[in-house]
Amino acid sequence: MMGRDSSLDDPMTEPAIRLSAFAGIFLAMTLWEFLAPRRPWSVGRLRRWPGNLAVLVIDALAVRLLIPTAADGVALVAATHGFGLFHLLGWPGWLAGIAGFVILDLIIYGQHVVFHHVPWLWRLHRVHHADLDFDVTTGVRFHPIEILISMGVKIAAVGLLGVPAAAVVAFEVVLNATSMFNHSNAALPGWLDRAVRLAVVTPDMHRVHHSVVRAETDSNFGSNLPWWDWLFRTYRPEPAAGHDAMTIGLPIFRAPGELRLDRLLTQPFREPRDADAAAPPPVRSPLH
Ligand SMILES: [Zn+2]
Ligand SMILES: [Zn+2]
Repeated sequence: MMGRDSSLDDPMTEPAIRLSAFAGIFLAMTLWEFLAPRRPWSVGRLRRWPGNLAVLVIDALAVRLLIPTAADGVALVAATHGFGLFHLLGWPGWLAGIAGFVILDLIIYGQHVVFHHVPWLWRLHRVHHADLDFDVTTGVRFHPIEILISMGVKIAAVGLLGVPAAAVVAFEVVLNATSMFNHSNAALPGWLDRAVRLAVVTPDMHRVHHSVVRAETDSNFGSNLPWWDWLFRTYRPEPAAGHDAMTIGLPIFRAPGELRLDRLLTQPFREPRDADAAAPPPVRSPLH
């Protein structure tokens, strides 16, 4: 059985680590987007950032209020009582940490695929896809119910596997950081993108997932490690229209008013507006 990670026993440690990592990466990516933008905006920051950042605050409050222990709290309890697969196997902390990190990433990949293919889950997840541009704030734009379901899945996985608390905090911080990185409108030279893409999902890789073309939306599900998309054949190297000409978003919810907080929070429960329904069907990918 592994010992408790005493530094994480203080309930303020984990939120402090997460908040400072979030603020640092957010500022770095925003600066990068200003200095070296990848694509011109279709709507821009002014109409999108208030809604995207407000939903981030609601998500953080919802998780803290409804699941105050979060996933690392469950990890500490599992360590104390010796339950979970890694504790039963008696694995050393470093091995359980690495295995836990990789398996959690695979679970998040699987959960993402499920969110695309189960209709009522897609209604929640489509809020993330309805952003009309793709930048650092798209990476934190998730409906609060999706965030709570996702936290529930993570808690179950951490408890069943017995992932060490330090690995859980590391996973959450890295996932949050890579989400802001790979949703950013930051330009990377082609050679750097190809090199980074071997280990971490890059903005050019994940932007394909935000294409209005459904076959492209249903590819590149990875959030952090790119390997699952290769392994499960959901990898698509680039959008058919090219990164500059591709359309970001969904065929529905394209009115700029849909970027407002009140509109994006109700998107899961609304049918597309008449005007949206009357819009021409999305461009078919020539690949399918
Ligand atoms: Zn998605
Ligand atoms: Zn995304």
